[in-house]
Amino acid sequence: MRDGPRDECGVFGLYAPGHEVSRLSYFALYALQHRGQESAGIAAADRGGHIITRRELGLVNQVFTENDLRTLAGELAIGHVRYSTTGSNAWENSQPVQRSEGTNGSRREVALAHNGNLINALELHEELLERGVSFSSTSDSEIIAAMIATHPAEDVEDAIADVLPRLRGAFSIVAMTKDRVVAFRDPHGLRPLSIGALESPGEDTVRYCVASESCAFDIIGARFVRDVEPGEVVTLGPDGLQSRTAAPGRRRAFCVFEYIYFARPDSRMNDQVLQVARGRMGELLWHEAPVEADLVIAVPDSGNPAARGLARAAGLPQDDGFVKNRYVARTFIQPGQELRKHGLRLKFNPLPEVIAGKRLVVVDDSIVRGNTTRQIVQMLRDAGAAEVHMRISAPPIKHPCHYGIDMSTREEMIAHGRTTEEVAAELGCDSLHYLSLEGVYEAIGATRATHCDACFSGEYPLEGTHGAAGKYALEQDAAPLAPA
Ligand code: SF4
Repeated sequence: MRDGPRDECGVFGLYAPGHEVSRLSYFALYALQHRGQESAGIAAADRGGHIITRRELGLVNQVFTENDLRTLAGELAIGHVRYSTTGSNAWENSQPVQRSEGTNGSRREVALAHNGNLINALELHEELLERGVSFSSTSDSEIIAAMIATHPAEDVEDAIADVLPRLRGAFSIVAMTKDRVVAFRDPHGLRPLSIGALESPGEDTVRYCVASESCAFDIIGARFVRDVEPGEVVTLGPDGLQSRTAAPGRRRAFCVFEYIYFARPDSRMNDQVLQVARGRMGELLWHEAPVEADLVIAVPDSGNPAARGLARAAGLPQDDGFVKNRYVARTFIQPGQELRKHGLRLKFNPLPEVIAGKRLVVVDDSIVRGNTTRQIVQMLRDAGAAEVHMRISAPPIKHPCHYGIDMSTREEMIAHGRTTEEVAAELGCDSLHYLSLEGVYEAIGATRATHCDACFSGEYPLEGTHGAAGKYALEQDAAPLAPA
């Protein structure tokens, strides 16, 4: 229904004896649902017991029943919501992935939830196959789980500290054994991962949790403590929170698109509340390209904060130009030939009473292929808009992401090889302006030196990115894969 970049994955983990860990994980995943709608899963364990995992295709509220949460009893748990960036949308690729391997005469059981994408997955996969390791999925996440589970080190933290420098790409990972949760992040800090503290009245011990975004802490009554540092390994266990550095931090490369689009507006990232940062993007968008207009409208919901900021800076009224149907995020029944021409109306219905005769400034957060934007412009014209001026709170997307975001191929991107004027002509709007990269950094109060903006600039922060394998690479390379 929308041709924007696809959200990646969300991860969560907590160690909290005496708490309903699976229920807390369920609600944390519910808050992270925007990061992945293809599958959801929770793994839980009693200290010293076994890890039990429940994972399924579907949304969080479709996957888990009350009975599932009762069965997933324990003192620690991890959870995952997925949108596939490596491997197709199949049950086998849902997470947490679980591996049980014999090491040094004992068995190591590991469950793992991953947000990101490895750029050396094929090489590592090949190496593990040669060592006789088999796989039950085609996701890069199982490669990481297998490397940790088969590592000879006695302590899982030692195994992770040795494995981490061998992984190349983007990874924010929450893993668990039977008695602790271990979270770690790639040395560039590409994808987010934060630590929260769960403090209960009458309980002296602080329990810790980790999540992709701080909105997951809010929903379970935890407070944000700090981000997991790039290259850091954090253990949540009986001794509280422990930390070690497994790889020296390299050039920081936090994904700038998290601020623009992916993360929830109520999440904090690098000391920014995203709702506020997005409002500033709207203000700067106006200052960069003012236009004679009567009304500001947003493409709901993603364009809302920037539209408010733009209207504020412009001193123009803002109104709802569309009514959004909030229940079509996941539709299995296709509209069919008769309804196809109304396609986007299933999601956005324009309000002619608001729009007709007006010179509109229309705000959205990004354009990838342009199909949705083209239809939006046409719907607004059909509803009687006098002029349609598109304002986008991100620079033009011209390059694919290899770090965990699914975008179209370069050739499918409307801005690839076209000037802004040519894109405006393709979309059929009266004018078009994209927020400059400088404007994005000004809005978030940060610099390019610590962020990744490769999908806009083409400057990939990791060497070897151009040789990265595609989303389905392990399916071509490895089939058939034996069950683990
Ligand atoms: S390429 Fe774009 S979407 Fe991917 S990590 Fe970099 S800024 Fe984020």
